[in-house]
Amino acid sequence: MKKLVINLNRCPQNHPCPAVRVCPIGALSQKGYAAPEINYNVCISCGKCVNFCPMRAFKLQ
Ligand code: SF4
Repeated sequence: MKKLVINLNRCPQNHPCPAVRVCPIGALSQKGYAAPEINYNVCISCGKCVNFCPMRAFKLQ
């Protein structure tokens, strides 16, 4: 299974991450405006957040 990674150089980290609400199983969380954290115990690598983030900060690799 591919692993979801976040490119911190692409994430501006200055806003509430909209992708947190897009994840169907709540695998993303955010502290303040920091880059979202990925709960790898529940992430199913569906790619919804990858396609949703306009900054293309998420990648499945
Ligand atoms: S790949 Fe899918 S399950 Fe994993 S964090 Fe993104 S939206 Fe959630």
